[in-house]
Amino acid sequence: ERGPLNPLETSPDAMDHALRPRRLAEYLGQPVLRDNLGLYIEAARRREEALDHVLLFGPPGLGKTTLAHIIAHEMGGGLKVTSGPVLDKPGDLAAILTNLQPHDVLFVDEIHRLSPVVEEILYPALEDYELDIMIGEGPAARSIKISLPPFTLIGATTRAGLLTSPLRDRFGITFHLEFYSVEELTQIVTRSTKILGTPHSHEGAVEIARRARGTPRIANRLLRRVRDYAQVRAAGRIDQSVAEAALQLMEVDRHGFDGQDRKLLGAVIERFGGGPVGVESLAAAIGEERGTIEDVIEPFLIQRGYLLRTPRGRCATEQTYLALGLTPPARSGA
Ligand code: ADP
Repeated sequence: ERGPLNPLETSPDAMDHALRPRRLAEYLGQPVLRDNLGLYIEAARRREEALDHVLLFGPPGLGKTTLAHIIAHEMGGGLKVTSGPVLDKPGDLAAILTNLQPHDVLFVDEIHRLSPVVEEILYPALEDYELDIMIGEGPAARSIKISLPPFTLIGATTRAGLLTSPLRDRFGITFHLEFYSVEELTQIVTRSTKILGTPHSHEGAVEIARRARGTPRIANRLLRRVRDYAQVRAAGRIDQSVAEAALQLMEVDRHGFDGQDRKLLGAVIERFGGGPVGVESLAAAIGEERGTIEDVIEPFLIQRGYLLRTPRGRCATEQTYLALGLTPPARSGA
């Protein structure tokens, strides 16, 4: 529903697969994460141990799943992918864990949505590579221990505050993924155009990068649509004016805002006088779930200074007014 920018549309297709980096060296941006992770992987490899469990925080589309693939590949293990809401019974998790091979990687997306009973099972598995499960019921019930091969759990979640602290404490490695700079996204778009074999100018790639909301998944998605436009209207080459025209047609403005961003910022200004407005009221006003606002829409707007999160609610900034072509109210002076 959110159109071409919806980073929640994760159904991977063959092209997503082709564009996904396979080695850490191909993973662009996130320099601090890359340096540290490279070191930890190298050390674990030399000791011939599984990599410590890794917790990844960050909004959708910033490269968490990609990192799980890369870690498995670099560690020479297989990758199993699942998610918190899918693992609703302890038996589901036990089945996956007992099927792992040494040094395999288990990726659990939305790990904050694990049910408490499943989370309990995970603790000894993470700490001692051991499963403690109850079989039977009533007086005949007994618990059995199964040892697991050394494996690496990679948990991904959108926000730090969503995780219980006992779970968080069991990860030895934690990374916060940051939004990507225009330069980094330009590199990502350039890499993708090479893989797709699409001729382009540097300015064309920058134009796409600038409007991608700091998010690689969106950059690649915009690139694919701009490429379609170039194919039909511009002999296949992406230069700046082609990129601009295509993005305009898709209603992605020069701030990279999509319809949902404009709706949210517009509501803060027009319906709530610039704020502060509580996230629940905002959610009701724009017909969106609170979680979607918190996890998908607002992190980028806050990071770029278009929205302020205060204890009393969300507020527009001077930049918000300017970006929407409105005059900021005169400052009242506190
Ligand atoms: P998440 O799991 O955080 O939602 P993904 O790992 O699925 O995000 O990333 C979305 C897409 O963006 C991937 O298919 C990949 O092609 C691209 N991507 C993400 N991070 C990077 C990166 N650092 N360098 C290059 N491409 C990236």
